Amino acid sequence: MTTRTAPHLRLHINWTQCDGRGLCTELLPGILGRDDWGYPVPLDHTHEPHIPAGCEAEAAAAVRLCPRLALTLMTAP
Ligand code: SF4
Repeated sequence: MTTRTAPHLRLHINWTQCDGRGLCTELLPGILGRDDWGYPVPLDHTHEPHIPAGCEAEAAAAVRLCPRLALTLMTAP
């Protein structure tokens, strides 16, 4: 994985919707870790982790496949 970051592309996690099934952490291992309960933990220590260049397709897949529809790709201001 590269360390470049796609301009302004970030992953929003709706914590009310997320139930910690962990699929997103499997699809985005360099971006999301997992806590003891299975909930995603942004590895860049932000609230809405940056999506590095080259990982856009994996991030889009995580959004599409999240069983709780808890993920959104967004552009930062
Ligand atoms: S895939 Fe969705 S429900 Fe599962 S841990 Fe990630 S955000 Fe939460």
